[in-house]
Amino acid sequence: MSTYIYLECTAHEPAIQADEESGQHLYDLPRLRDEIAHRNEYANAMSIGASFDDRYTNNTARFLAAHPHCPIRIIDEYGGTHPIKDEDTK
Ligand SMILES: [Zn+2]
Repeated sequence: MSTYIYLECTAHEPAIQADEESGQHLYDLPRLRDEIAHRNEYANAMSIGASFDDRYTNNTARFLAAHPHCPIRIIDEYGGTHPIKDEDTK
């Protein structure tokens, strides 16, 4: 079963959801979390015009560049939220 996942910025009222998805399955979460962990690097890359072959990575990078200092969270199309860090590292 596919599950579209998106980034959402909670610094704004109402919160801003990404227009484009950051993944299509829950197994994309580890990749997305790794990208969030390197959010500054992705934002910097976008600022000099970089793009990424993986469309989900590219969508993520674009959103991170637009919200460089905002609190963000991961949501899915069913209204669920997911931690931005791996739960098994606590
Ligand atoms: Zn924001």
